[in-house]
Amino acid sequence: MAQQQKAVDVVLVGLGWTNAIMGMELAQEGLNVLALERGEDRDTVPDFAYPKMADELTYGVRYKLMVKPAKSTITVRHSLTETAVPYRHLGSFLPGDGVGGAGTHWNGHTWRPMPEELRLRSYVEETFGKNIMPMDMTIQDYGVSYEELEPHFDFFDKVLGVSGKAGNINGKIQAGGNPFEGPRSNEYPLPPLKRTLNDDLFTEAAKAQGLHPFPLPSSNASEAYTNPYGMQLGPCNFCGFCERYGCINYSKASPQTSILGALKQHKNFAYRTGCEVIKVNLADDKKTAIGVTYIDGNGEEVFQPAKIVVVGTFAYNNVRLLLLSGIGQPYDPVSNTGTVGRNYAYQMMGGATLFFKDKVFNPFIGAGSNATTVDDFAINQIDFAKEGFIGGSYLLAAQTNGQPIRNLPLPQGSPSWGTGWKKAAKDYYGHSMTISSHGSNMSYRDCYLSLDPNYKDNHGLPLLRLTFDWKENDLRMTQFMKNKVGALAKGLNPDFLKMSFKDIGTHYDVRPYQSTHNVGGAIMGTDPKTSVLNRYQQSWDVHNVFVLGSSSFPQNLQYNPTMLVGALAYWSAKAIREQYLKHPGPLVQA
Ligand SMILES: Cc1cc2nc3c(=O)[nH]c(=O)nc-3n(C[C@H](O)[C@H](O)[C@H](O)COP(=O)(O)OP(=O)(O)OC[C@H]3O[C@@H](n4cnc5c(N)ncnc54)[C@H](O)[C@@H]3O)c2cc1C
Ligand code: SF4
Repeated sequence: MAQQQKAVDVVLVGLGWTNAIMGMELAQEGLNVLALERGEDRDTVPDFAYPKMADELTYGVRYKLMVKPAKSTITVRHSLTETAVPYRHLGSFLPGDGVGGAGTHWNGHTWRPMPEELRLRSYVEETFGKNIMPMDMTIQDYGVSYEELEPHFDFFDKVLGVSGKAGNINGKIQAGGNPFEGPRSNEYPLPPLKRTLNDDLFTEAAKAQGLHPFPLPSSNASEAYTNPYGMQLGPCNFCGFCERYGCINYSKASPQTSILGALKQHKNFAYRTGCEVIKVNLADDKKTAIGVTYIDGNGEEVFQPAKIVVVGTFAYNNVRLLLLSGIGQPYDPVSNTGTVGRNYAYQMMGGATLFFKDKVFNPFIGAGSNATTVDDFAINQIDFAKEGFIGGSYLLAAQTNGQPIRNLPLPQGSPSWGTGWKKAAKDYYGHSMTISSHGSNMSYRDCYLSLDPNYKDNHGLPLLRLTFDWKENDLRMTQFMKNKVGALAKGLNPDFLKMSFKDIGTHYDVRPYQSTHNVGGAIMGTDPKTSVLNRYQQSWDVHNVFVLGSSSFPQNLQYNPTMLVGALAYWSAKAIREQYLKHPGPLVQA
């Protein structure tokens, strides 16, 4: 029999970006809020202190801050006819674990979506006609517009202390920023990060081709900054230990540095670590939740009663928790019925490495978001009918770290071991820069998430199964970007050039890192037949359950997701504060 805890108003499942935001908003409202996090407690001091944090083997290679697959993983297959097998060694994506979640070890690339991306199906159909859509492509509109989210993008910019240069303020194009972005109500809170040699070279090459380079919007602070919660950031010192590490310097915006320090001051907020939630408990009528069940650090089952449950456990974990709890109808791609698990999508990356014998880049001077980028190939800039695909990508030249184990690119043909490798490493360390493309991924009828029929976790519960493969549409998009990157790279006249883009026919490979930008499976929308959540990220089926994170995206953006993830969390919080608490029930009538 499960132990029972004292009831709370709100239980937050997971304590990453999304639930740090929700925790702050609902604690400000005076509600009694409790967060349950499966991993350990973490903060800048003592956990990220120097020199402990600058240990590449422990953090960069052995993934100390990420979840251990033995504790939580998924199974993977390419198609409906295959048997999925477990993802046993982290590679393709690196889910977070512990207080702060993946927001502790992220890079801080901080993009807003294009307005068109939030209504992608409508945009494509209105602009290019319905026939352009491949038969099995299931892209949808979010049900919330860029204009509705703009105040939340703006506030989250300020919470993060984003360093950047605006390109469009209230419809007026600004020199030096992204001329293709949606209108912003304000300039970024901080100026761009300082430039490095790769930035200057890329800027020159891009301008020579008529493109519009600008500094990547970054959540690595360029100057000392105090955010609206009173949290202080120090200027980034380009330490080169950013992605996969906690920031030693209070410079990278994270749940810890931006929100949790202030949230912990609220007496009506509490959190417990080592608590893995395994179910959202439902009332007999299945229309409301009564709390959650978790396994505590001693392996005991505990029931935590709550009036509102907010699930913020990262994209696919959210989907598994809904499926394990019997919330919503599981998606079946054969009959095309049900919704939970529908529209899983990933992201399409490619890149080029340029080697210059006579240039020294000092790559150990790097920050997670130190980069120059162009957005001339954004979703709203490409003629999909002419190019034969739906999607888009931004290009960037980034210098994020020069750590020797993971960052020692060598020209093609260099020996991979022994004296020859040592000589090549000596000759080329610090003599290369990269140009990469970061692209969208559409959703398809047979790319989805479900409970695995064969594999179980250590509690005896089914693992989540991912059925996913690349589709020709998205591979064509990356081939289009390959030509653009190739042209830019050649303009820089490197001594050697190494290109890495997926060819038509390539299958998804879980081994190399791609991005932890998994989306979909518990998507938001306007119709309960094709979405799990309404426009406020509220479950259509169980009205006191809200589900936050990129599981809400009906297809993937061409950008990094966290700005949208955060803005949607503020949007849901506003709906709870202003509407739900006064009249608990569905916020949208289906
Ligand atoms: C290496 C890396 C680099 C990235 N770089 C960028 C970037 O530059 N820009 C960008 O926009 N995005 C980036 N991201 C993505 C970004 O980190 C995520 O979008 C963001 O952290 C998502 O926040 P979240 O709250 O949804 O989930 P998370 O941050 O993953 O937090 C979820 C929390 O829930 C906990 N949890 C899971 N299951 C349970 C359970 N059953 N019970 C209790 N707790 C549970 C987890 O332990 C975790 O702490 C990056 C991610 C990674 C891994
Ligand atoms: S590069 Fe800057 S933001 Fe990143 S960990 Fe180092 S000091 Fe922090």
